[in-house]
Amino acid sequence: MTHAAPASLLTIFGATGDLARRMLLPSLYSLQAEQLLPANLRILGTARSELDREGFANLVSASIADRIAAAERNDAALRGLLDRLDYAAASVDDDASMAALASKVQALRDGDVLYHMSTAPKFYGPACQSLAAHGAAGAGTRVMLEKPIGKDLASAIAINDSVAMAFDEERIYRVDHYLGKEGVQNLIALRFGNALFEPLWNARHIEQVQITVGETVGVEGRGDYYDDSGALRDMLQNHLLQLLCLVAMEPPAKFDPTAVRNEKIKVLRSLRPIGREQVAHESVAGQYTAGASDGVAVPGYADELGRSSRTETFVALRAHVDNWRWSGVPFYLRTGKRLPSRSTEIYIQFRKVPYSIFGGRTASDMQPNGLLIRLQPEERIELDLMAKTPGLDRSGLRLSQVGLDLDFHEEFANARKRIAYERLYLDAIEGNGTLFVRRDETEAAWQWVDAIADGWRAAGITPRPYPAGTWGPGAAVSLTERHGHGWRE
Ligand code: NAD
Repeated sequence: MTHAAPASLLTIFGATGDLARRMLLPSLYSLQAEQLLPANLRILGTARSELDREGFANLVSASIADRIAAAERNDAALRGLLDRLDYAAASVDDDASMAALASKVQALRDGDVLYHMSTAPKFYGPACQSLAAHGAAGAGTRVMLEKPIGKDLASAIAINDSVAMAFDEERIYRVDHYLGKEGVQNLIALRFGNALFEPLWNARHIEQVQITVGETVGVEGRGDYYDDSGALRDMLQNHLLQLLCLVAMEPPAKFDPTAVRNEKIKVLRSLRPIGREQVAHESVAGQYTAGASDGVAVPGYADELGRSSRTETFVALRAHVDNWRWSGVPFYLRTGKRLPSRSTEIYIQFRKVPYSIFGGRTASDMQPNGLLIRLQPEERIELDLMAKTPGLDRSGLRLSQVGLDLDFHEEFANARKRIAYERLYLDAIEGNGTLFVRRDETEAAWQWVDAIADGWRAAGITPRPYPAGTWGPGAAVSLTERHGHGWRE
């Protein structure tokens, strides 16, 4: 593997868009405030809007004022960021503007260039090829691609092929912003920085794994985009499968891009297919109807969309990783909109003690140990253990389950809550792809997810209704209970 030098220029496509204003520009501000950006880094925004440098600087200042708490803002950092900025209007479909953009890139660069495609995915290939045609995609350049990479395997291959005509795989950084979250890196630290967990991290000791990504929001203004996608493609194909990979992968020999991604792809390729024969038993699709979110009445999905639809806003699966480590362990995955809470968590439930020495009521107090890794709303790691309930009881010793906090609130109390893009930008600027998704991973994930979508179509499975503000259709509960399990709530 070649080692990239830190980028001297970051060029953001879609620099006036929603993602840029909410996440990307505020992340760059925070990196600037902590003096983590290379001294010579310049930032070039580009989008269709005809703005001059000052107009773009105003947009950047406004987005920072909007997204960064007043207590964390300071003039020096803002000035430092604005000093790095430039803007060039360009439209991917207008060659003259792309030629001008490419010359600007060449004029501003003082070494490596990082491009970030924060526009619609249909532009990724054309934009990359246009940069190549104008001599701005050669050695020393790399490109970050936002999700979604396609909406099925065929469209993902088309995008990947198209980008590959300009950039070789080593220079492509596919974003899954979940990988930039502190809690996800904490999971890696916990697994591979401690000797305690790894001996237990297998089917002999783990009963089941659950991964939940719950959203309380509906589709609001994004209905048309979402309706074309749905929970399986929009969330499960990328975020949930990436989390599953990090839980299930074998220890990589190094924390580097090749070693980590080689282990993740093995997990994806070991996923037992859920196809036409299995969908009815191993998957549940749902769509929210009118209900309540945070105590406020909200309309159903079809009402928000203005028409009826067969798109799922909820999906639950019972997945299996067919290898020695995980044989027989179900991985329950669920994600949806208009669920009761905004929560992302991974729950690893260990097997029960092989035999209880406690009799009577105490035996029924016994709960299996569990490890909870929470990414949202707050980042937290908790180990559920059995302990003696303090005090006396006429029937003898009593036990209760206690949650041991492993996230060292006190120790790291001063750490600021970061936007995932801070880590991702820092790594991409430095040329480190460990927390980005490789082409084979994206395509293996699509292949697995496509079989489920195909199964639903072939079996005539349409989403079951669930009232907004509930944990999906009742069938999602039966999915676990049929096998003697239950969702952690
Ligand atoms: P947006 O519609 O708000 O912004 C799109 C940007 O692309 C604008 O700056 C626009 O000027 C530019 N653009 C449009 N047509 C162009 C053209 N022909 N040539 C050059 N530039 C053009 O989109 P967004 O919500 O910021 O999303 C950007 C990307 O990030 C998408 O791929 C989206 O899927 C992805 N994404 C967004 C979010 C989010 O929360 N917004 C989350 C995850 C991924």
